[in-house]
Parts: sequence; C-alpha cells; structure tokens
Amino acid sequence: MDTEVNQPEVVSPVRRRSRVQQQDSVESSLSVKEPVPIPPDLAQRIKLRAKELKIRQKDRSWAAEVVNDFRENLLRFLKNSSDQPLFQSAIFLTTGSYFEKVKIDTPDEFDMMLKLLVPSRFNTTTLDAGLFYRIDLTRPTRNPIKDFLLDDRLTLSSSKILTEMFRLVRKFLKTYKVPDHRCRWELNRKKPNSPAVTLSLCRRDSGGEELISVDVVPALEVQSWPPAVRNGPDVDRWLGTKLRQEIRSLPCYFVPKRQKGRKLSEDAKESWRISFSHVEKKIITSHGNKKTCCESGGTKCCRKQCLMLLKSLIEGLKRRYPKELEDLCSYHGKTAFLHTLSTRYDDSYWAPQQLPSCFLQLVAALQDHARTGSLPHFFVQDSNLFATSMFPRRTQEFLVKVLEEQMKEGLPLLRPPSLLPSLKPVTIGTEMNPEELPEKSHPLISFDWLKLILVFVVVVVFGVKFLCF
Ligand SMILES: [Zn+2]
Repeated sequence: MDTEVNQPEVVSPVRRRSRVQQQDSVESSLSVKEPVPIPPDLAQRIKLRAKELKIRQKDRSWAAEVVNDFRENLLRFLKNSSDQPLFQSAIFLTTGSYFEKVKIDTPDEFDMMLKLLVPSRFNTTTLDAGLFYRIDLTRPTRNPIKDFLLDDRLTLSSSKILTEMFRLVRKFLKTYKVPDHRCRWELNRKKPNSPAVTLSLCRRDSGGEELISVDVVPALEVQSWPPAVRNGPDVDRWLGTKLRQEIRSLPCYFVPKRQKGRKLSEDAKESWRISFSHVEKKIITSHGNKKTCCESGGTKCCRKQCLMLLKSLIEGLKRRYPKELEDLCSYHGKTAFLHTLSTRYDDSYWAPQQLPSCFLQLVAALQDHARTGSLPHFFVQDSNLFATSMFPRRTQEFLVKVLEEQMKEGLPLLRPPSLLPSLKPVTIGTEMNPEELPEKSHPLISFDWLKLILVFVVVVVFGVKFLCF
C-alpha cells in the first residue's frame, strides 16, 4: 500500500538541527529558482506524459466496479459472520490513491481501510520516534476485542488481528463470485511487515495475469493524537491555521504493522503503526492556498499532475531496477510532495502552464532528500524515512545516481511503459466475447497461422486433384 514505510531511526538533536539547516537550503533554493529554463523537448515530454496519465485515469470504471463489488460483498460477509463479532461491526474508510485520484500505471492498486469498532479508551506508547506504538486498553473489557489481547489482557495484539483478517478473507473468497467470470481473486502470501491482506484479481486465461491489486487493512480509530504528532503537520502558511485545527480534530488510525529488524522485543512484534492516510486525502483534495483552487469557477493548478508524474517516475524506476530500489515506494514521493507543497505554498507557483518547471522542482526536491539522506515523515517529523535503518545506504546512493541520470538524459522513464496489459477486458455483466481476449503470449501456433496452413492444404489438395483430372 501507499503508506508502506518501515521502522524509522530516531533522529538525534544534532542530526535534527543539521537536517533543518539542510531543509532550509532546499526551501530557499526552491522558492528562488523559478521559473527554471527547460529544454523545449523536455517540457513537451512532461506535458505529454501528464496528459496520458489523465486519460488513463478516466479509463477506470471497469476496475472501480470490480473493486466496489468485492468491497460490498466482503462487508456483507463480515456482518453475517457470527463466528467473529469484532469484524461484524467493521466499516470501510475510503483511503489511498484511488480515492485521491492520483493512481497511475497498471495494475491498479486499491487500498481499503477496515475500521474496527473497539472501546475508545486506549493508551498508546511509542516504540520509536513516533511511527510505531504499543496499544493498551485502559482496563479489561468484555468487548469482542478481548479475543485479540495478549496474556496481560490489556495489550492489543496486531498479529492476532491480522491473522484473523486473513482467515476471514480466505473464507469469504470460497463463496464469492467475481461479476466478470473471466477473473478470480487470489489471496497473496502474508508478508511479515505488511499491515495488509493483499489480493490480486487475476485473469483465468493469459497465465493468470494480475489486473488489480487490493490491500485490505484493518485499522483502529483513536481520538487523541499521540504527543509525537500533537501539533499537527506544518501546513499553516500553505493551508492556514484553521485547516490545521480541523485536521487536528480528526481521529488518527493505527494499522497492525510489525516493526522491521531481527531480535525484536515483544512490543515490537505486536506493534501498530500510526496512519494519516485519511488526512493526506483531505490535504490533497483541498490543496490550495486559496480555497477556490481547482474548484469550479476557481483558478486551476498543476499540483495533482505533478504528484502523478512523480509517482509515475518512481514506478518507472522501480520497474527498471526492481532489486536495487526495492525499498523505494510511492510514499517517499508523496512525502517529498507534501513538504514541497508546504514550502511552495502560493497557488501562483503552481499555475498550469508552469507544469514542467514545477515537476522538475519536485524531482529536485526528491533528489535533495535522497542526497542528504533526510526525508522527515510529514506528520511524524522526528521520523526520517530515509534513515539507513530502513532505507539502506546503498539504496540511497543508487537512487541519487539514477535520479541524476534521469535528469541528465531528459527523463527517458517518463515515456509510457510500452508493453502494459490492457486493463479493460470486458464490461461487467456482459457475456464474454472471445474476440476481445488478447492472444496468449506464446502460443505454439497462432490462429492466423492455422488459417494459413489450412488454406495451403486446401489449395494443394485441390491443385493435385485438378492436375490428376
Ligand atoms: Zn489546485
């Protein structure tokens, strides 16, 4: 999922100071250098790619229908599952890229948070700089959550919740039928540090090619934000103090994510990670310095397009260097984007015609974060997402190198991937039309060849007959 980040390193005051200095220099360079002169063909490529991504985004109704059907039926199943009362009252929160409308290349990824209704009184104890927590009930309870406590009958076990979620989804899939009968949902193997139950929608033909990926993440809602994030994100100049207060009045969420590393403490094995995906969605939706930005009648900006382009660049890099950049994820891009937005807050900086220069400045910001090895989490500012404990030094160096290469060569990775599979096999509810199915990738003899051979045989046979008579 989008918020896939690992255990951060606690930043010492000295490092924090130097980080702030580095950030200041990034900030000043960002606001001074504009607009940057850009080679016309590079500007053209950026604009073209942004346009393609927009078109691609509109082409998603098939995926949305399939995912909504899955979601509604899973919820119905959970409500009727009397064997697990905790999940009976669960509800879905809409989070993640799909709902922010900035998700890009195939296969489509969808995140859904499943909010579990639990007693509202918790104690949260941070296990690091403020990303990972132990969660305890303030007193023993008879609430269905009691089945998911550790032996002390107070501490919430993240592993027990996640295991149960897996069991329920597996049980659900046994009876659930995908409306498009050419596809089936497959449960992915459990990953040790993921808070999600991940499913893939695969074609029954074409060697089970993955069309859609869905992350179902159970989440606990907590009303009061822990001390590490108490002040809320740095959005005053950009979105105003009023919006920050509004954000602060929202609950925060915890997802069952185990800390990374070996020889983990008991707390770390049962840890929960704080999640702000609902706030990120809110910020990205109402992103203007002036409230009217991108609203009907208001002025337009290129912020969302810039984020889409950055995500596309990151996806491109990961596709090209899957091993070397395994630890890089779209959340790093989103974090760099949010920092840039809070520094370059004025709407006029992001005028639509400035798209190429805005995007290049965003790439430059990511480069700076990578070079300095410092990317503070936007909400948990003392957590560095580029700390060597979770983003290895060699990955960081590699990222610096390939970003430099991309910039030098005029961003060749922004060219759309050439061999992406089509995402729209058929419209749901219609019968399967074999003509719409792409051919298998390596058939022994294709249909066209068969036809040719048949014609050849007929001609030869008739030819021979004609000669004989
Ligand atoms: Zn806007």
